[in-house]
Amino acid sequence: MNIEDKLFQIRFNVDTIPHIKVDLKACDSCQEKWCLYVCPVQNYKLEEGKMSFAWQGCVECGACRIACEKGQVVEWNYPRGGYGVCFRYG
Ligand code: SF4
Ligand code: SF4
Repeated sequence: MNIEDKLFQIRFNVDTIPHIKVDLKACDSCQEKWCLYVCPVQNYKLEEGKMSFAWQGCVECGACRIACEKGQVVEWNYPRGGYGVCFRYG
């Protein structure tokens, strides 16, 4: 099963409050920008030299939290109870 098929099995109850906050000013000086490579749903984007982040499609994998080498830049939490991803079975 490829990643697109796996992502199709997910549904979201998107919270209006971001569960992940990114200090995008700190991203300006980041050379590696690993988040661009590890996020399976491309929530991190680099456009015209500026990073942006959207939490809505997050599948809560935690990869960006681990990949970011700049300490406190990614403030990562799970969504509030009742929000976030759930998986379709069957
Ligand atoms: S890896 Fe961290 S500091 Fe670098 S661009 Fe991504 S979120 Fe920003
Ligand atoms: S937790 Fe995973 S899906 Fe969510 S923004 Fe980070 S890398 Fe992307």
